[in-house]
Amino acid sequence: MKTPAQGNGDAIRTVDAQHHLHPFTDSGKLNARGARVITRAEGIYLWDSEGQRLMDGMSGLWCVNLGYGRKELIAAATQQMEVLPYYNTFFQTTNAPAARLAQAIADITPGDLNHVFFASSGSEAVDTVIRMVRHYWTLNGQPRRKALIARENAYHGSTVAGASLGGMGPMHRQATPLLPDIHRIPQPYWYGEGRGLSEDEFGLLCAKALEDKILEIGPENVAAFIGEPVQGAGGVIVPPATYWPEVQRICRKYDILLAADEVICGFGRTGSWFGCETFGFQPDIMSMAKGLSSGYLPISAVAVGDRIANALINAGDDFNHGFTYSGHPVAAAVALENIRLLQEERVVDYVANTIAPYFQTRIRERLGHHPLSGHIEGVGLLAGIALVRDRASGTLFDSEIDVGTICRDHCFRNGLVMRACGNRMVFCPPLVITPAEVDEMVEKARECFDLTYDDVRALILDQAQAG
Ligand code: PMP
Repeated sequence: MKTPAQGNGDAIRTVDAQHHLHPFTDSGKLNARGARVITRAEGIYLWDSEGQRLMDGMSGLWCVNLGYGRKELIAAATQQMEVLPYYNTFFQTTNAPAARLAQAIADITPGDLNHVFFASSGSEAVDTVIRMVRHYWTLNGQPRRKALIARENAYHGSTVAGASLGGMGPMHRQATPLLPDIHRIPQPYWYGEGRGLSEDEFGLLCAKALEDKILEIGPENVAAFIGEPVQGAGGVIVPPATYWPEVQRICRKYDILLAADEVICGFGRTGSWFGCETFGFQPDIMSMAKGLSSGYLPISAVAVGDRIANALINAGDDFNHGFTYSGHPVAAAVALENIRLLQEERVVDYVANTIAPYFQTRIRERLGHHPLSGHIEGVGLLAGIALVRDRASGTLFDSEIDVGTICRDHCFRNGLVMRACGNRMVFCPPLVITPAEVDEMVEKARECFDLTYDDVRALILDQAQAG
């Protein structure tokens, strides 16, 4: 007999359509079509209620870094549930998993990020960064420093603060009025916006936009610059090598705090523990989530450098911020075990030295010459592929042809989860993927690129005939 939580696909689809509003979804369209019901998962595979197996090329939503079904994580949760399922950390109390996890995060993060504040989601971690950097400057005797500088096409979450800080037009349109005193500079997207310059020149130019913006606002008004080491939801935009070191130099020059949003890049994704190490900069404060627990339970954290933490510690007053689930003992126990497994199994080394080089080579060999494939960029186990109408000129499809969605749907139908970010197809597989699984993933993607190519050629022909 099926448990109520599983049910059968049609029954679940019916109640889902009646009652469940999905994130980032056209609910009317989804309800008419019916959601795919995911029923179980193991390793890097998912199964749906129709029994179809899907290879998860996205690690869930950029988070299941150790893959599905890890008994050690399940045991860590179960054991902690039995001993202490919940207690808060507000009232002069702590718990062992939260304290040990703070220590573990302090140990694995670079530089002087020696202090940790907990939350449950990436959005809450980003909100915490905003609260903390502004409060820091008040404590520091410079209360006018409130402005935050972020990038176009950045993603920093979906609370009002996250949506305001991010650079996603469709989110802005539904979140107005946005939070004030957030300023935006161009993204370091060389293929889309920088051609004509070398990548290195373009990286410096994008960093210069930060300096120009700081001078426009007045450094005495700027609290922090925030960026994802690699923009994830923006389509996996890998910045030129010159970019981050120059951003760091500019932040130091004007004494602007540098915040890294490592929600996707953290925990080995780019081949280092944190993206800032791969790209050569040292943040003053860092948000993390997702890979912190491999997505098994919701937990996020902000790693805070000594400078900011000491100001809070020595303020002689409360920091009036926190969440019911800050330092949740079960989520923290799972995150601790996740970090222990990453260390014991040397997963970050495996990414850097074995599987990422293989993955980056194979996607270029098998997809790089495809007529739809304009440009591939990637680092570690992240990659973004721009789908174009014409490879030679890099001409994009016009907006009537939603090439990303066509390709994503072919992938789903053929047993592969890839994400479409506009016209960019994105890979973010679990860090434990094997070379044979990389081959399978890339071959499936290639078949789906072929199917997409046939569809878009037919659409272009239709357009030509109609025109
Ligand atoms: N920051 C970044 C860089 C992210 O990629 C995300 C989520 N994709 C968030 C913040 C928000 O995380 P959450 O969805 O857990 O709130």
